[in-house]
Amino acid sequence: MEQLKNKIVDEGTVLSDTVLKVDSFLNHQIDPELMQEIGKEFTRRFEGEKITKILSIESSGIAPATMAGLYLGVPVIFARKRKSLTLTDHLYSSTVYSFTKKESNEISVSKDFLKKDDVVLLIDDFLANGQAVHGLVDIINKAEAKLAGVGIVIEKGFQAGGAEIREQGIRVESLAIVDSLENGEIRFRDEDPAQ
Ligand code: 5GP
Repeated sequence: MEQLKNKIVDEGTVLSDTVLKVDSFLNHQIDPELMQEIGKEFTRRFEGEKITKILSIESSGIAPATMAGLYLGVPVIFARKRKSLTLTDHLYSSTVYSFTKKESNEISVSKDFLKKDDVVLLIDDFLANGQAVHGLVDIINKAEAKLAGVGIVIEKGFQAGGAEIREQGIRVESLAIVDSLENGEIRFRDEDPAQ
């Protein structure tokens, strides 16, 4: 997605050979117009899959997931990282190790919002080692719902998550794939021009 790649080049900061900071439009401040285009692009790629729910994870997956939900016309659930007073039992849970925070979190979704007959699209901001996606897939499996695919805003193609998830036969659509951050330079993977 050219608009997204241009934004990454213009505003992204390479923090190290493995970490890209995009706080000005995705991870702290949000660019609503870009999110709208991201929502349309996920919809273009996944429409026809009979999706009934989008599942994301707090907090940075929520904005792109909500916009995709708007255009696909389906509700958006986000897995919570902490148990709240109002979210007690009656949960599907999984454990996720965070690449950026170097800590494990238990993520949970209420059984009220994910049902056996749901066809679920997972959406997240980044795909690195795939821990977040694995945890969300685990929750979908626990609910016995169907996984339609995974939509990612920025995939870091030099980390193992994307290849591992695709090897499981899961469809992964990433709007920008970064193949290297070495020497402070952002290098994108060449993609199908139709995308
Ligand atoms: P994974 O679970 O695939 O290893 O990592 C995915 C999660 O880690 C994302 O939801 C995102 O919050 C965070 N993350 C991983 N790599 C980066 C990165 O390079 N930059 C930013 N901003 N977040 C990242």
